[in-house]
Parts: sequence; structure tokens; C-alpha cells
Amino acid sequence: MSERLSDPERRDEDSTEGALRPQTLAEFTGQKIVRENLSIFIQAAKVRGEALDHVLLHGPPGLGKTTLAQIVSRELGVGFRATSGPVLQRAGDLAAILTNLQPRDVLFVDEIHRLQPAIEETLYPAMEDFQLDLIIGEGPAARTVRIDLPPFTLVGATTRSGLLAQPLRDRFGIPLRLVLYTPDELLGIVRRGASKLGFDLADEGAEEIAKRSRGTPRIAGRLLRRIRDFALVEGRTADRRMVDAALARLEVDARGLDAMDRRYLLRIAQHHNGGPVGVETLAAALAESRDTLEDVIEPFLIQEGFVLRTQRGRMLGDAGWRHLGLTPPAGSGQ
Ligand code: ADP
Repeated sequence: MSERLSDPERRDEDSTEGALRPQTLAEFTGQKIVRENLSIFIQAAKVRGEALDHVLLHGPPGLGKTTLAQIVSRELGVGFRATSGPVLQRAGDLAAILTNLQPRDVLFVDEIHRLQPAIEETLYPAMEDFQLDLIIGEGPAARTVRIDLPPFTLVGATTRSGLLAQPLRDRFGIPLRLVLYTPDELLGIVRRGASKLGFDLADEGAEEIAKRSRGTPRIAGRLLRRIRDFALVEGRTADRRMVDAALARLEVDARGLDAMDRRYLLRIAQHHNGGPVGVETLAAALAESRDTLEDVIEPFLIQEGFVLRTQRGRMLGDAGWRHLGLTPPAGSGQ
């Protein structure tokens, strides 16, 4: 994937992200429905003294799935273990993690749609009956041993729940969908972030960052850190003008689109007369994977009406044409 400043995927520099992570549900801004649901189910699990039912968090990258999983364990007062679909290579890797859990612990599995089929199979009885079937030995001497596991809560994260096999999806009692944040919600996150990072950000500067973060806290955090650098070097408060200039240098435009977003829109406008064009064709032309287009680039563009997803493919919406400063061709139906 290309190195985009407003790419919401996790990158190494984001290890400093930890500093900005909210620690409790009350501190977690936005996602009202998700928060309210979690709060009730957490309280109920605590009253019953049982493990919380398995939770599936789905939504675009950078919206707070990992953060919420950590918050769930903290609110439950239990331990937290994290792994991810691609990291688990053999059923034994999963067995090692599961057998080391304490009762009611939270096990977070990021990118759960990328689990190997054999590991997924191991997970089913573990999730349903807290039992693990291990095959010991090889060939005719091989036998299955059943191990009892402590009751635990699996918190799975995925960019799209449609990517998950149905039997796996069915085993999550609490499926929750995260949505893009409003500029108001992001404003709160940006203000708190600036004060945690200890730098002077004027109100109008904060508003500008919030409006231009593609509805995504991870991007807001990344822009915030870059602007802090500009403020540090220039030795003054980050006001609106400075934020504007910094974002222009970072190639983030007035609506928060980056170079990749604009390439995507221009491709549809200039090579396909505004569409419709299939997502595979776009992915090939832009040298991105189809998943990246669908999970990372498109959600915001579609929400803002820049792009329409139709039966016959992607089309540029009115807002897309306007944003590019182009006029839809006659007869394009727009
Ligand atoms: P995901 O797992 O969905 O990719 P993360 O949980 O890693 O996203 O969040 C990405 C970044 O955004 C983290 O730095 C996190 O602190 C921040 N973040 C996410 N949601 C919120 C929120 N509601 N309030 C404040 N910061 C948030």
C-alpha cells in the first residue's frame, strides 16, 4: 500500500499513538450506539460474574476497534491479550494463547477475517463451549485430546463483516459496527490530543484538522503530530493559517482528501467519463488492492457523495465533479 499521510492503516510511527488512546468508555468520543451497547453488556457481565459474550467490531481502519477492545478489558477488570489473523499460522499458536488465558480475559484478534481456515475451525468450539480439540501425534497414532478452557471473551476486529465466514460471524453474540466520526466528534478528539501532546493549538486550527481527517481519529492524530512539528519549528501557536499551510504541504486538501483520493476521483472522471466503472478495473489502474479501495479509500468518498456505488460499478457523484472543478459530460445522466 502507498505511504499516505491520511492512510488510516496502522504504521510503525504510530507506536506513539498509545499516548492519545482513550482509557475508558466515558473518555471514548463518538460511536454512541456502540458505547451504549457495550456499557450495558459490560455491566451485565460484571453483575453475573461471567465472561462477556464475544464481540465483533467492524468498520474501516483507524476508527477505534483496538482501543475499544482494550477499554472493554479495562472496564471488565480482566486481562487483555492481543493477536491478529495473519499472525496466527498454526492451530498450535492459537492453542498456546487460549490455554494461557485467565478466566474472563479478553482476547483481541485483529483482522479476524484473515484467519487460516484450520485455525478458524479450532476457534469454533473454543468460542462456543470453551473447549479445544488438539490433535496429538501424527499418522495412525494421532489422537484428539479435548482441553477445557477458561471462559473468555473474544473481541474480533474486521474492516467488513461480510469478509467473515458465516459460521464465525454467527458465534459473536455482540456484533457492533463503527461508523466514520463527525467533524464535531473529531474536534473533541483533536483538542484533547493537542493538550495531551502539550502544544498550543488555536480553536480554528483544531476545527480545520477535525474537518480534514476523513472522519477517522487515526488520521486526526497523525495530522496533529505533523502540525505539532510545524508549530515547534516555527515556534508559534498553530492557528488556522499555519494549519492550512501545513496541510497544503502534506497534500491534504480542503475536504481532507489526499493525493490518492484525488487520483481515484480523477481516474473515474477522465478515463471513464464519470463511470460506471468496476472496482477491479480501478484497483488495477491505481495499483492498489481491491480491498484497500473498498475498506480504506471508498467509505469516506461514498459517505461524502464524491462517489456512488451502483450495480454497474463506481460513478462520480455531483460532489465529486464539483470537488475536481470539472463538469460532468453531457449525457452522463448527472
Ligand atoms: P482500529 O483498531 O479501528 O484501526 P485504533 O483503535 O487503533 O483503530 O485507533 C486508532 C487511533 O485513533 C488511536 O491512536 C486511538 O487512540 C485513536 N482513537 C480511535 N478512536 C478514538 C476515540 N473515539 N477517541 C479518541 N481517540 C480515538
